[in-house]
Amino acid sequence: MLSMTTFDLIFMKFEIISIGNELLSGRTLNTNLQTICNILSKIGYTVSRSYVVKDDCTEISWALKQAISNDSEWIIVSGGLGPTYDDMTLSCTASTLDLNLELNEVALEMIVRRYESLVAQNIIDSFSITDSRRKMAILPKNSIPLKNNVGTAPGVLIKYESKNIVCLPGVPKEMEDIMIHQVLPLIGNDNRDKVNSKVLYIDGITESELSPIINEFLSNYDLYIKSHPKGISDGIYHIELVISYKSKKISESLINSILEKLITSIKIRNNIKIKY
Ligand code: AMP
Ligand code: MG
Repeated sequence: MLSMTTFDLIFMKFEIISIGNELLSGRTLNTNLQTICNILSKIGYTVSRSYVVKDDCTEISWALKQAISNDSEWIIVSGGLGPTYDDMTLSCTASTLDLNLELNEVALEMIVRRYESLVAQNIIDSFSITDSRRKMAILPKNSIPLKNNVGTAPGVLIKYESKNIVCLPGVPKEMEDIMIHQVLPLIGNDNRDKVNSKVLYIDGITESELSPIINEFLSNYDLYIKSHPKGISDGIYHIELVISYKSKKISESLINSILEKLITSIKIRNNIKIKY
């Protein structure tokens, strides 16, 4: 019998660390976590855990040690790579891993190119490499800088024992650019399998009535089914049912026939409406 556990333990695992006081005060919604999880899970990788910590070296170090002690091959950190005093991700990572910090010439070159392009676009008149700008090129020893096409601070890949630690800027567009264009190609696609999903929008059934029907399908097929209750309006329950499946294991025609059976099983009363 297949279970939800077999569904999610097959592929490479990730831990995500989000850094920023504003994430914990509620000023900023942690959209980077959602974006990274979306990018990874859609192509069949598993995000095992996430941590949200303040701009504080003790806290950053705690989260890194926790993530390193687990079984994930990749640790993705976002936030705190910029030029200001509270951007301390790289210095804290270096001290936690006992690595020296040094000026990385490749990263410095990326930063210089970025300011040259801002001058060429008349966004700034001129530039010099100040200490604040140079700070973004001071990386833990043997780091690999990752090109940022959207902003200034390069991302950073640190190989530490058997782990890959990736540090990305907090600015969502920059984080996403580096994640998609630099990190995904490094992760590789040898064993990944695309995860597809279908959504059923169901009116007129409660989650507890749906539960045994879902259980039956989970025990018969290698699927992950998650119900998302959307509350009651006009006296009717609304539920979104997300059915995820791996494209290498379940073909489009098989998923369509499974969905037909699922819909038939859910329609236990005439007043249950299903859209998809
Ligand atoms: P930082 O790189 O930490 O200086 O962050 C730069 C900007 O990105 C700030 O405006 C943050 O509020 C925003 N930011 C940082 N982390 C996140 C996150 N996890 N989700 C969404 N926005 C973020
Ligand atoms: Mg920050």
